[in-house]
Amino acid sequence: MQAYPKHYCGVFGVFGHPKAAELTYYGLFALQHRGQESAGIVVSDGNRFDVHKGMGLVPQVFDAQRLQSLKGHLAIGHTRYSTTGSSQVHNAQPLTVDCARGKIAVAHNGNLTNAAVLREELESAGSIFQTTVDSEIVLHLLAQPGPNGSANSLVHAIRRLEGAYSLLIMTERELIAARDPHGFRPLVLGRVDGAWVVASETCAFDLIHAHYEREIQPGEILIIREGGLLSLQAFPEHRRRAFCVFEYVYFARPDSVLEGRNVHLARVEMGRQLAREHPVAADLVIPVPDSGNSAALGYALESGIPFEMAFVRNHYVGRSFLQPSQLIRDFNVRVKLNLIGELVRGKRVVVVDDSIVRGTTCKARVNTLKEAGAKEVHVRVSCPPHMFPCVYGIDFPDRSKLMAANHSLDEIRHYLKADSLQYLSLEGMVKAIGRARDTFCLACYNGDYPVPYDPSLDKEIMERRRTQRHSLVEALLQDQAQGRLL
Ligand code: AMP
Repeated sequence: MQAYPKHYCGVFGVFGHPKAAELTYYGLFALQHRGQESAGIVVSDGNRFDVHKGMGLVPQVFDAQRLQSLKGHLAIGHTRYSTTGSSQVHNAQPLTVDCARGKIAVAHNGNLTNAAVLREELESAGSIFQTTVDSEIVLHLLAQPGPNGSANSLVHAIRRLEGAYSLLIMTERELIAARDPHGFRPLVLGRVDGAWVVASETCAFDLIHAHYEREIQPGEILIIREGGLLSLQAFPEHRRRAFCVFEYVYFARPDSVLEGRNVHLARVEMGRQLAREHPVAADLVIPVPDSGNSAALGYALESGIPFEMAFVRNHYVGRSFLQPSQLIRDFNVRVKLNLIGELVRGKRVVVVDDSIVRGTTCKARVNTLKEAGAKEVHVRVSCPPHMFPCVYGIDFPDRSKLMAANHSLDEIRHYLKADSLQYLSLEGMVKAIGRARDTFCLACYNGDYPVPYDPSLDKEIMERRRTQRHSLVEALLQDQAQGRLL
């Protein structure tokens, strides 16, 4: 087993609509920003599952004919982004099985922190895994008997998972939504034409004219079936709330509403707060599009400095363009964003982006601005310095590659060749969102991980798996040598 790839994703589900697959397609389309590597939809007509998955963007994976062939009134879908090493179609979700409990499909957003432990336990009891994604563990747990001979494996399976999960589970006749007790990742419930819909973000509801009903609560298992809704709290004991603050900073779409707060408005307020905390005399505020747009607007509104969209984004940059030769030196920097040079020439510019991770993007932007003749470049970042990796599903590199974990503010400023550099404070970020600090996961900023994770234990398990594996023949020879072949 290789190290579990981290992945963030979008999930969407429908119960009770004759065009369930089509609605799911549009839902996934709206959630494309949460994953561009693979997409998949499973439908059920009450008896049989139809599955289609593939690598690429949602419209690359599905065409009209394919969608029409997916018949049923229940569906779940998934868009996936992953780190290297797991980019294969067999890792695309939803994952499906046909087991003693019937057919089950799973779509997962988040990252399980006890994946290696659970997988080792399941494999030593005979489970055979088909993928390298942690989400498959959920299927195996669901397929097993419950504790003490009980048939109820659902609650038991969910209670064994640790870390971040917003899950959609589909049987032939039911749709089940479950969220981890800390509520790391979003998951919302809506209605359209009398049908139920569940999605990672509310922007998916807007596209299909669905009404937002409510959040799936942390720890809730919501079963949607013919007779109506059945809601259970799988974790009645108190668990710390830990909504991922980075969903507000960068990840969610600005037109989504997370826990009652519109994302764009939260980002504008982060920009305003940033201007209050770190003002600077300048002629122009410009965002790094699209991630810095809302915060830059807030900075401009608060400071009274004019706002300009000086970087122009090319929206058609796919993942797989031809890698250019030396002919175009800085192709990767220029292909996505181009600068309208005359806007910044001779000006003192504040450039606002949502975050600095490795520092590569920001350095390139400052360089472009200086080359175009900007007199001063002041970098403002609308979240605090990223100091720690995420183990709950956001793809940040390990500490050694996180800029702020290894360098002082002035060293980073120097590296970026900026005239000044400032980050929004942790308190300022939380205040801008407008929710209590203790309801957030802030681990990537302060190292306070709400669910413990021990990477050395994972390493140990991988090593054990590598060194203690006995092939069929090896095991036979060993038994033979010890005289216990039959
Ligand atoms: P870097 O060049 O590593 O400093 O990248 C920072 C830029 O990437 C910022 O402009 C963010 O908008 C964006 N970003 C931040 N976090 C992520 C992430 N987990 N995956 C992809 N892009 C990200």
